[in-house]
Amino acid sequence: MTEHAVVIAGGGPTGLMLAGELALAGIDVAIVERRLSQDLDGSRAGGLHARTIEVLDQRGIADRFLSEGQIAQVAAFASIPLDISDFPTRHNYGLGLWQSRIEEILAGWVGELAVPIHRGVEVTGFAQDDTGVDVAVSDGRSLRAEYLVGCDGGRSLVRKAAGIAFPGWDPTVSNLIAEAEMAEEPELGTRRDALGVHGIGRLEYEIRDGEVVFKDRGPVRLTVTEARVGPATEPTLRDLSEALVAVYGTDYGIHSPTYISRFTDMARQAAAYRERRVMLAGDAAHVHYPVGGQGLNIGVQDAVNLGWKLAQVVRGTSPEPLLDTYHAERHPVAARVLQNTLAQTALMRSTARLDALRAAVSELLGMDEPRRRFAGMMSGLDIRYDLGEGHPLLGRRMPDLDLVTAAGPLRVFTLLHEARPVLLNLGEPGAIDAAPWAGRVQAIDAEYAGTWELPILGPVPAPTAVLIRPDGYVAWVGEGATHPGLTDALTTWFGPPGAA
Ligand SMILES: Cc1cc2nc3c(=O)[nH]c(=O)nc-3n(C[C@H](O)[C@H](O)[C@H](O)COP(=O)(O)OP(=O)(O)OC[C@H]3O[C@@H](n4cnc5c(N)ncnc54)[C@H](O)[C@@H]3O)c2cc1C
Repeated sequence: MTEHAVVIAGGGPTGLMLAGELALAGIDVAIVERRLSQDLDGSRAGGLHARTIEVLDQRGIADRFLSEGQIAQVAAFASIPLDISDFPTRHNYGLGLWQSRIEEILAGWVGELAVPIHRGVEVTGFAQDDTGVDVAVSDGRSLRAEYLVGCDGGRSLVRKAAGIAFPGWDPTVSNLIAEAEMAEEPELGTRRDALGVHGIGRLEYEIRDGEVVFKDRGPVRLTVTEARVGPATEPTLRDLSEALVAVYGTDYGIHSPTYISRFTDMARQAAAYRERRVMLAGDAAHVHYPVGGQGLNIGVQDAVNLGWKLAQVVRGTSPEPLLDTYHAERHPVAARVLQNTLAQTALMRSTARLDALRAAVSELLGMDEPRRRFAGMMSGLDIRYDLGEGHPLLGRRMPDLDLVTAAGPLRVFTLLHEARPVLLNLGEPGAIDAAPWAGRVQAIDAEYAGTWELPILGPVPAPTAVLIRPDGYVAWVGEGATHPGLTDALTTWFGPPGAA
């Protein structure tokens, strides 16, 4: 029997990100992945939103993605564009980059961190007891782990075997998605009608002056809304041809598909993200229509929320209830995404009444305050974990400030590269004593002369100190010369003083 501290079922974007987070924290983690390689059937997600780019920047790997993708204003609500170029972040944009490439880059990073990936086998079941989990693998092996995390996608075996309910909404709409060749020149771009939205584009494109410009030739990626919700069986080229004819009056001579699949607007969310020693993240915990491009993004961010907490519990520095904050913080985030996809899906259809509603929503989103609020939601920059009342920074993302330290200039995100907490003292040097947490929390004296500005909220009062969690969210804010609540915050988030 092979032993690991943590076994992750599934090496998609969520599982890979979680593995990286745990490995950075020095935890013995392994992935069990059904696929033989990182190759994907189809290109799936089209890119990253601003907050995901920020969390990758917090680990020092954002450039790997930025250098390969197309920077653009991608945030939108029901395809109504939401410009975030005035948001106070280094990454006031999104990134067009296919999921197939995103996964390869993540897998490269996880490889550098020497995480073993058991490929070509799947998790077939598990049994948990008071000290760990026996994870059954399809090749007959059993892996013993202290914790198992199901990052095994929407049909998650781990979720089902854990008996975790998956309530939500049955599908009302289905789309065929395919990558193929077309003998005739298709109508490129999107079209909306009473069925919903349809789109044909070339896999290769450029962003010029903020607009997508498709290459003149090459394979197309298309999605067509079906007249009625399709069956659970795999769709065929004939199904695709018929759906195209129903919408466009022609199938443009479609041939040589490399990928045909179906997705729906089913929206479901795990009732619990944790069942004792088993946790869920990513699509295993929430599924919804891809409108707004949020699924991969919130999966990666689930992983960044869970990773450091699980690492501290495995290491014995924090007690197990810390893991409950994972559900408490991340369940509401996905619940809101489910709600916004239900609303967006309704708005994607085109009838006289819905067009009137859409025009009204477009007008609203053209106003500054609603635009900022919705853009904050769709880009993930507005997330606030409920850590109680207090300074506006509390529970929100720490801005990537340009600090001045004794060692020279330093970006806040650079301090987070190793996924360790940071206690930033911006007041009198040496004014904070965090010695009992030395080794766990990096205490840094720094100066910052600029304004403090948050997305949507705008300028906020400058604090004298901040405690930043490894996921980049602010756990405590100091506002004067004394630091009430700091000891409690350090204990709550990083364990009692002097623990292991
Ligand atoms: C058409 C389409 C467009 C999309 N566009 C976007 C977008 O623009 N932006 C966005 O953010 N999201 C988008 N999404 C959603 C995004 O693709 C998913 O949210 C994302 O893939 C979830 O990642 P994950 O790692 O949680 O799950 P998955 O990507 O499903 O990965 C699960 C992994 O687990 C493996 N696995 C499954 N079962 C087992 C098992 N029993 N044992 C071992 N391994 C197992 C699978 O092989 C897979 O590698 C889109 C989805 C679709 C269908």
